[in-house]
Amino acid sequence: MLKPSKMQGIENMTTITLPALPYGYEDLAPHISKETLEFHHDKHHNTYVVNLNNLIAGTELEGKTLDEIIKATAGDAAKAGVFNNAAQVWNHTFYWNCMAKNGGGKATGALAAKIDEAFGSYEKFAEEFAAAATTQFGSGWAWLVADEVNGKLSIMKTSNADTPMAHGKVAVLTIDVWEHAYYIDFRNARPVYIKTFLESLVNWDYANAKYAGQDAGVEK
Ligand code: ZN
Repeated sequence: MLKPSKMQGIENMTTITLPALPYGYEDLAPHISKETLEFHHDKHHNTYVVNLNNLIAGTELEGKTLDEIIKATAGDAAKAGVFNNAAQVWNHTFYWNCMAKNGGGKATGALAAKIDEAFGSYEKFAEEFAAAATTQFGSGWAWLVADEVNGKLSIMKTSNADTPMAHGKVAVLTIDVWEHAYYIDFRNARPVYIKTFLESLVNWDYANAKYAGQDAGVEK
C-alpha cells in the first residue's frame, strides 16, 4: 500500500536511490567503455534499485538503510528477492568506487603492508584474487575482505548477489564477474578483464579508506 506522501508525489527520502558513478562515463576507457558503463550502471544497477523499492514498498523494510535491509533478509529464503536486489544495489555501488581513472597496479598506503603480511606479496594477492574471480562459476563477485572481528584480510568469492556483510566480512575491494560487466568490452575473455582490472583500474585509495574504516571498527 502506498504512503500518502507517495500518492501526493512527494519524494520519500528513505527510498533507495541509484548513486551517480564516481567518474565520467568515458573515464575508464579504453579498459571499460562508455557503452558498458551506460548499460551496467544506468540499466542493470538501476533495475536493482527499482525492483528493490517496489519489493519493500509498504513493508517493514521500507525506510531502512541498504545495510539494514541486507542484514535483515540474508539467509531468509522467503525474502530472497529482496536480499538479491538489495545486495546487488550495494555490490554495484561498491564496485564503481573500486575503480578509478589511471588506477591499478600495486597496492598503496597502509593496505600494501597488510596485503604483504596476509598473502606474502602483492603478486601472490593478485594471483589469488584473479583465481577467485576466474573460477567463480557463473555470475558473481570476487572480493578482498577483512574479518569483522579480527580485521584479517582474505579473498572470497560470492555467487549471484551474495555479499560479504552477510558472512561477517567487511568488503575492501571487489570485481564484478557477471557477464554484463565485461561482455561488451572483453566478450567471453573474463581472465583478460580481470587482468585489466588489476593492472589499470583498481582504486587503492578507496580500498585503503574501507580498510581504515574496518580498523576503526575493530578498536571500538
Ligand atoms: Zn554488475
